[in-house]
Amino acid sequence: MSGDTTQEITNTPTPADVTMDTIVSLCKRRGFVFPSAEIYGGFGSTYDYGPLGVELLRNVRNLWWKSMVQLRDDVVGLEASILGPEKVYVASGHVANFSDPLVDCKSCKRRWRLDHLEEGHYEAEYGPTKRNPKGEIICPACGGELSEPRKFNLMFKTRVGVTEDSSSVAYLRPETAQGMFINYANVQTSTSRKLPFGIAQIGKSFRNEITPGNFVFRTREFEQMEMEFFVKPGTDDEWHDYWVKERYNWYLNLGITPDRLRLRPHAKDELSFYSKATSDVEYLFPWGWGELEGIANRTNYDLSQHAEHSGKDLSYFDEENKERIVPFVIEPAAGVTRTALTFLIDAYHEEVVNNEKRVVLRFHKDIAPVKIAVLPLSKKEALSSLSKEIARKLRPRWMTMYDETQAIGKRYRRQDEIGTPYCITVDFDSLEDNAVTIRERDSMTQVRVPIDDLVRVMSEKLDG
Ligand SMILES: [Zn+2]
Repeated sequence: MSGDTTQEITNTPTPADVTMDTIVSLCKRRGFVFPSAEIYGGFGSTYDYGPLGVELLRNVRNLWWKSMVQLRDDVVGLEASILGPEKVYVASGHVANFSDPLVDCKSCKRRWRLDHLEEGHYEAEYGPTKRNPKGEIICPACGGELSEPRKFNLMFKTRVGVTEDSSSVAYLRPETAQGMFINYANVQTSTSRKLPFGIAQIGKSFRNEITPGNFVFRTREFEQMEMEFFVKPGTDDEWHDYWVKERYNWYLNLGITPDRLRLRPHAKDELSFYSKATSDVEYLFPWGWGELEGIANRTNYDLSQHAEHSGKDLSYFDEENKERIVPFVIEPAAGVTRTALTFLIDAYHEEVVNNEKRVVLRFHKDIAPVKIAVLPLSKKEALSSLSKEIARKLRPRWMTMYDETQAIGKRYRRQDEIGTPYCITVDFDSLEDNAVTIRERDSMTQVRVPIDDLVRVMSEKLDG
């Protein structure tokens, strides 16, 4: 078999060595992520997902959904609307409280988040936080004096209705969570659920971030995977611990490097206005530790607020103690795009194989956008028609790519670079022995398999 059977692999850097420039450029070159509206010069911090990015996002969503809903008998799904009336967000506290403290530089007019200045978020770009002799923080860019902090609400406000006077204020949701709270009674009644139970949702949310950045890590339009788990008061601490562990393990089980993953409980002064306790799952990104997911104990804050503001009873009758209670809520809140970025960064490896650089995305097989590439050794009709027939057999089960361009070694490298776990090579012997070669991405080892066994063999490799 031609290609890269005899290997000498050296010099594998750790994921820490990858820079964001490398990731961003790979994403664009191979069709994972494009800057949005690029032909018009781009639209700040918005991104479009290309053919491979779409598959990656779908895998992230599906795996989350499978672990949070399909494999459990205590969580159900929901898809709520993105547009919401003002009343919802007055009740939730977002209209009054969902804001960042902003300061402006009086010299260069740059705008900063005060909390980010205090926490040293701009260090990578501007060095440690600078202060004047009075001890006040000054502009990291020019050293100018900063204004008093002002509150800036992060919600996107819009109007719904045809004419100015008949229209009413609406918001794009800043989190999917409120959809679960305002549907709590609908779901509980229609499914006859007993506590504890959860409602899960995946969908877009919007926040007018002052300082988006780090590629798709912080964007104004983003996609969340949130689950609200309703429990009896008094059992909330226990359930909070449970979900923290559960969610931490989800990343580990999908192959995230353990050394680059950690749990960080929030200090009291950084808790959101609705939260009793929050722990973040953090990942060591190229720019430092960053939040991957927050698991919050939201208490009964949201249900109580919506009960009060809507006038509807959102309490639950606890048959055990014969009393009406307002459930507490544990919320694991993750981001689809942020998770996809994490998998990309963590999978990135460079190594030297036979004196040539090989870039390989070592995705977990369930995360990999394409599972199998079918590669005829040459473009000759006999090989390409057999290869296409093989690809047709595999497609109903797995995302399969067919590629007959360029030399086989180049095609292997292309598949390595997008993280395809298996390449199936069809050569001239295949026409005689009805067998093909399966080449594994990480070890580059090859095995010969009869075509008739291919679906079974691939199922053993990919479905386990
Ligand atoms: Zn300045």
